[in-house]
Amino acid sequence: MLDADIAKCFDKINHQVLLDKLNTFPAMRRQIKAWLTSEIKDGNELFPSTEGTPQGGVISPLLANIALHGLENHLMDWIKRQKLRFPNGNVKSKRDKESSLSVIRYADDFLIIHKDLEIIREATDITKKWLAHLGLKLKASKTRICHSLNRYEKEKPGFDFLGFNVKHFKVGKHHANKTTNGKIKPYTLHIKPAKEAYLRHYRDLSQIIDRLKAAKQEVLIKKLNPVIRGWSNYYRYSVCSEIFSKIDSLIFWKLKKWADKRHPNKSWKFKRPKYWKTIGGDNWVFSDGKNRLIKHKKNYDETKKKTRKQERKSHGEIFKKVQNIRSPYDGDIVYWSSRLGKYPNTPTSIAKLLKWQNGKCPHCGLNFKDEDVMEIDHIIPRQAGGGSSYKNLQLLHRHCHDKKTREDLKLIAEYQNRKESEKQHNKSIKWFNDLFSQEKWKWINDTPVMTSVHDKESCF
Ligand SMILES: [Zn+2]
Repeated sequence: MLDADIAKCFDKINHQVLLDKLNTFPAMRRQIKAWLTSEIKDGNELFPSTEGTPQGGVISPLLANIALHGLENHLMDWIKRQKLRFPNGNVKSKRDKESSLSVIRYADDFLIIHKDLEIIREATDITKKWLAHLGLKLKASKTRICHSLNRYEKEKPGFDFLGFNVKHFKVGKHHANKTTNGKIKPYTLHIKPAKEAYLRHYRDLSQIIDRLKAAKQEVLIKKLNPVIRGWSNYYRYSVCSEIFSKIDSLIFWKLKKWADKRHPNKSWKFKRPKYWKTIGGDNWVFSDGKNRLIKHKKNYDETKKKTRKQERKSHGEIFKKVQNIRSPYDGDIVYWSSRLGKYPNTPTSIAKLLKWQNGKCPHCGLNFKDEDVMEIDHIIPRQAGGGSSYKNLQLLHRHCHDKKTREDLKLIAEYQNRKESEKQHNKSIKWFNDLFSQEKWKWINDTPVMTSVHDKESCF
């Protein structure tokens, strides 16, 4: 694979080519042109920039995406034109060729993956040419060709991408997975937090602890928790439990030092119960009684909901991949609502129901398609006593809803009958109770005798 970075992405970019590529409405074009030529303000001095836009700004990943858009397709078109064969000599079809090459890009960081070294080398040249036309170059120090399992020349196996380290490991045959045609794969893929990423994270946490050496324990906990939660959420889909435990233990030692500095003359016997409590079977929770410091490991354990089978398969959570060419802007309400439970311009109720129903109609069991007309149905009809809470709602195809409504008629009739007979029953009970209410009876010579209204009046 080729693991590449683009040199100083925007310092040298060719503005005209970029703007031509945009092919957008004039207002947008003007805005982007303004960003490209924006001036860098340093103190009170202005540095007009004619050649680029500042790196690391909010806008630069967007511009990188615009600039590098099309690189994937360019490489795909190129691989389709190559003459490639399977190991047994058969000629590869266009589709086989296309699926043999992977191009993954995020902003200015990208990867090209293929089985053959030769193809990777050629793809690198093609990429260089393509970039040159935009006025860009590959950054030599951050561009390398490597293998996912073995060492290639001096390069370590595997690569780092977006803070993850991706690498193949050799495994024994009892742990090996099988390919789709039943062959044993003597290696397995591990995606882990990259070393650089977790060291940086630990450094961030240490800095917070150092900065708050005089603060209350509560303040420190409240500052650390969101950082830990965010980081462990980002990495929880990877093989992370080992690294999470490692960071937790490093933080423990850091906090111990923090406590030592606060009470240099007190013994550990005093400090230990003051700062660490036993909560839920864990004897080492950094807590002041009210607030507690979350642990990477714990936080990750709480968020994972898996079956045992899945647990054996991987250590982290299973991430459902977004379909190939999907974009949240493609307007496919059904796909994105089912996935996220929300979508712009879609009523929350519909989006929520789609998510709960996994994008399926419970009546016919088929997936909704974007052009389908969907209607909200009361599972137990309101005329049959059903409520309007989400528990009683479901999303159906219009034609399924019509069928369901016909079926509901019977249910409603039964309900009305039952209600009617209940009413009758209550009426007779009332009549009966009235009849036997004590005020209407008197004991006369050990015999209960009914007193009429007239009798009562005559008493006076
Ligand atoms: Zn249906």
